[in-house]
Amino acid sequence: MNQRTTFYNFIAQTSSAPMALEIVKALGVEMWDKFGKVYIDMISGISVSNVGHCHPKVVEAVKNQAETYMHLMVYGEYIQNPQVQLAQKICSLLPEKFDNVYFVNSGSEANEGALKLAKRYTGKPKIVYCKNAYHGSTQGVLSIIGSDYFKNSFLPLLPEVYPIEFNNIEDVNTIDNQTACVIMENVQAEAGIIKGESAFLKKVRERCNEMGALLIFDEVQTGFGRTGNMFGWEISGVQPDIFTFAKGMGGGMPIGAFVAPKEIMQSLTHQPVLGHITTFGGHPVSCAASLATILVLEQEKLVEQVHKKESYIINKIKENPIIKNIRSVGLLLAIEFESSDINFKVIHNCIQNGVITDWFLFNDQSLRLAPPLTITFEELDNAMEKINLSIQQTSESLALH
Ligand code: PMP
Repeated sequence: MNQRTTFYNFIAQTSSAPMALEIVKALGVEMWDKFGKVYIDMISGISVSNVGHCHPKVVEAVKNQAETYMHLMVYGEYIQNPQVQLAQKICSLLPEKFDNVYFVNSGSEANEGALKLAKRYTGKPKIVYCKNAYHGSTQGVLSIIGSDYFKNSFLPLLPEVYPIEFNNIEDVNTIDNQTACVIMENVQAEAGIIKGESAFLKKVRERCNEMGALLIFDEVQTGFGRTGNMFGWEISGVQPDIFTFAKGMGGGMPIGAFVAPKEIMQSLTHQPVLGHITTFGGHPVSCAASLATILVLEQEKLVEQVHKKESYIINKIKENPIIKNIRSVGLLLAIEFESSDINFKVIHNCIQNGVITDWFLFNDQSLRLAPPLTITFEELDNAMEKINLSIQQTSESLALH
């Protein structure tokens, strides 16, 4: 049996059409398949490899920590240097009141922890979330996924969850004095890159203050440089009460976190004790990789280059009548076509031409671009040439029909 057959036989599938590329090596922005074909990774699989694949500093940190110690004890019990260093570093990058970090394994778990924390701290039952939001796939966060299609087969889920429309100021009145928290992305990623308008985010903040609800910003995709700021909240300046992170945080290693003022976070230590627990959360190797990732972002001044690269990409996109719209926030870009069929053809052609792109969960007529922030202008030239070619090929094939 070859590896492809074994994959289809033994690996649980998430759809009937996986990309099924057989990658044998990845470095920087490139990946090689087993036939030696090179692919430029324009999605960072997905929004993770902000410092590129196998960045030497991250690899070195992983090796050093793996040789020192790996798992020692469940989260929170032992004093582990990689966790302590990383927590301190993350807090130094956030406004002063954020001085406490709870490490977990993924974005879903970070959001689960944040929601529990908000309920526990406020003693209130309701959760307000946004339509077209994505916060993960476990049952708690599936309850607040902004699309009925994805949750209807798993009902019953959490009660007391209330959707509002993103950027709709009137809907903010849904937040009432029984609301524990409002959770939102400050840039909705899976909706196809929709930026939270400052007026809306400010209104949400005000209403949360009035009603005694906590505001949670899910920065799982926007964190760690992707938007052109270290974190997405900096775009509007509106601060939440709890942040959640994952994806780009680990430089390719699995890690997530929720971050809050200590006064709030402490409520997880009593009534009940062990209010949130995790065995592997803040794994020392992942923490070491994460700290190295942040240092790479700083030392290579990657965040500072994001907007220049964003404009460069936009200027390189050749006009084509099948392109309807382009949206972007830093190196999170969406090229919208007339239909999902067209988009899927472009994605297919991109893969044929050696560049990896994707669609968005709630916007399948838009093409996702989220390259590693380390991508050079020369690499961008190469990638954009292939993307333009793929769009051109698609529009020519449509004209033939
Ligand atoms: N929040 C956002 C905004 C995300 O984009 C994702 C993943 N796409 C998650 C949460 C869930 O993260 P994970 O897949 O690590 O559980």
